[in-house]
Order: sequence, then structure tokens, then C-alpha cells
Amino acid sequence: MGDLAYEYKNQIYVNLTNKCSADCIFCVRKKKHSIGASASLVLGKDPTVEEFKRAISSYDFSNYDGLIFCGYGEPTCEVEKLFAIAKWFKEQYNLPVRVNTNGLGNVYNQRDILPELASVVDAYSISLNAPNAKRYEELVRPNCPDAFEQVLGFAREAIRQKKEVVLSVLSLLSPEEIEQSRQIAKELGVMLKVRVTVQTQA
Ligand code: SF4
Repeated sequence: MGDLAYEYKNQIYVNLTNKCSADCIFCVRKKKHSIGASASLVLGKDPTVEEFKRAISSYDFSNYDGLIFCGYGEPTCEVEKLFAIAKWFKEQYNLPVRVNTNGLGNVYNQRDILPELASVVDAYSISLNAPNAKRYEELVRPNCPDAFEQVLGFAREAIRQKKEVVLSVLSLLSPEEIEQSRQIAKELGVMLKVRVTVQTQA
């Protein structure tokens, strides 16, 4: 089984699932099997909450400033586990929790998941990925309709909950597209992060 938790750039990440609600042309999973200090992020099976707790507990959190849910899959595809682990982590360590997400969790789960996560998640990094729906569809290839609008709706609701929200796009976008994305983030009152991503073959 692949790693359930791993260290990357002095942060501890949880590799919650390999499930995803999209098929991004740039997804790092198409390129390599691991990130940072992990040996492999290909899980092979669905680990239990207890297995995740054991993996996370193996790190000394006096050296880290929180926990990030981000691995080879979309964390909100396992929202019940996400909630259980985040709740346990905050009770144990009293440190912030961030979820890196594609913003499609509400569609995937067919309900608004933000209220149930409100007490255990402090921050969201949301992959905007594109400045408009057409470009989003090209790059992300989501398995649901109106996905770009769904992402924006997820971001608006997280902001309304007063969560720390950052939107992100890829450096493979044109400068004009990055500027348009920055304008979207500005209108929402949040920062835009430009992720440096190696484009891979679809
Ligand atoms: S949303 Fe993330 S995990 Fe899913 S295909 Fe895109 S980059 Fe990969």
C-alpha cells in the first residue's frame, strides 16, 4: 500500500484517497508515483480512519504548523473520512487543517459539504485552474456539468464561512489567462497562487 501521510516542503500531507472527480490533463499522477518524501502515493486499497491516524501520529507535530489534505486524489471524494481525521487531528494537536481541493466536492457528494466541514477545516486551497468554463473543461475534464461554476460556488461559500481561501491556477496558462484568473480571485477578495506544473500527456 502507498503512503497514507507524507512530508513535503516541511509540511505533513494526508494522501486520503486515489479517487477523483476529474481527469486533469496536467495531473501529476500521470507522470510519477510519489511526491516529496513519499515512496508511493498509489494506495491500492481504501485505508481506514484508524490507519490514517496511525500514519499521522508517526510525525512529531511540534515541528509542523498544521495538516494538509492533499495527495493522489481529491480529498472531498472521502468526505466522511476527511471529517473524522480532521476532527481527531484538531483534538489531538490543536493545529490548523487545510484542504487542497478541486472544488467539486458538493457535486461529487450531491450535497453541500462545507457546513459539515466548517468545524474541522480552517483553510481551503481551491484549484480554479482556468479563467473560464471553456478552458476549465479542456484542462480539467470534470465528470459533472457546470463544473467551473461549481468551483466558484464552492469558493464563495468557503469565503462566506470566513475560511482562509486561496485560488490557484497553473503556470501553463497564458499570461492573459493568469491575469483574468487573478481578476476573478480579486473580485472574490482572495489571493491567486500560480502553481508551477509540468504538463503531461493525457
Ligand atoms: S483534481 Fe487533482 S487529483 Fe484529480 S485529476 Fe485533477 S490534478 Fe489529478
